[in-house]
Amino acid sequence: MAELPPQAEAFNKPKVELHVHLDGAIRVQTILDVAKRRGIHLPATTVEEMKQKIILHEPGTLTSFLEKFEEYMHVIAGDREAIKRIAYEFVEDKAKEGVIYVEVRYSPHLLANTKVDPVPWNQKEGDVSPDEVVRLVNEGLSEGGRAFKIKARSILCCMRHMPNWSMEVLELCKKYRHDGVVAIDLAGDESLNCKAYPNHRMAYEEAVRCGIHRTVHAGEVGPATVVREAVEVLKAERVGHGYSTLEDHALYKQLLDQNMHFEMCPVSSKYTGACNSDFSKHPIIRFRQDKANYSLNTDDPLIFNSTLQLDYSTAHKYMGFTEEEFKRLNIKSAESSFLPEEEKAELLDRLHEAYELIQSTAF
Ligand SMILES: [Zn+2]
Repeated sequence: MAELPPQAEAFNKPKVELHVHLDGAIRVQTILDVAKRRGIHLPATTVEEMKQKIILHEPGTLTSFLEKFEEYMHVIAGDREAIKRIAYEFVEDKAKEGVIYVEVRYSPHLLANTKVDPVPWNQKEGDVSPDEVVRLVNEGLSEGGRAFKIKARSILCCMRHMPNWSMEVLELCKKYRHDGVVAIDLAGDESLNCKAYPNHRMAYEEAVRCGIHRTVHAGEVGPATVVREAVEVLKAERVGHGYSTLEDHALYKQLLDQNMHFEMCPVSSKYTGACNSDFSKHPIIRFRQDKANYSLNTDDPLIFNSTLQLDYSTAHKYMGFTEEEFKRLNIKSAESSFLPEEEKAELLDRLHEAYELIQSTAF
């Protein structure tokens, strides 16, 4: 494989991103601006200083990663202008990375300050409910989509440690299913399984019944049993990360046969400690060799100080990914997106054209 010239993009073509958290993809400058406007004191006053607080510099644990959100979520949550702004700017940033379709996820509850129990981030009770958060994010995404000519849809997250929120998340997915929300997700500590927390299962059962699409964070740091639960109990149509699926050979084979989509995040998996930090030993290599159905994603670019380009160049440089594989995985990502069939077909047409592939190309 030819080495890339320095600074060259590993894959300078239209891309699809399916796994990125809105609250993990905020501009640092925006956090500073909003804090100033709201009179919230931060321990830093410049972008560089604030970055030092937020960015994970070394591979850590999932806990050290989650603590990073404490640094800034109280600034954005509960503020209408800020919530809409981060959604709009997110679309601009994705357009700059060459993304033409993105599914961005977030917990509406974690950005709210009323009708949420408990009110998160030590905020005072206010008047921004989870429902209003979804409306504001939708506005930001659709205005951004029009301004930057890409398509952005959202996925609403249930949190594993907050089972009481899950049915409300499902209700919001139903309410906004024709207004930008395409699916439900379950995020957080994978050790909290669904036997102990039946509300998640109930929400997902209702999602199946209503035809709401489903993805689940599973097998990121948790074992393969979490992946099995995601697909068998929660009826996930996609798996967020799923690296540990490889530990259960029968399950891995079954999911390959079912064309299950895995949302993989190489740079993220290093910094959260989910995978070996030696990229040449990364589970994604096995998925690639087996021609699995997966996407490449940033997850939380703010926390990892990363871009989608970094994930692609990492895959190219350390994992032997070729241009052909990048094309294949983006086609697979589009096929596995939660867009309605007609819009999915349009997206696939655009990719085929950009990649100079004929529609019948069998990957
Ligand atoms: Zn994630």
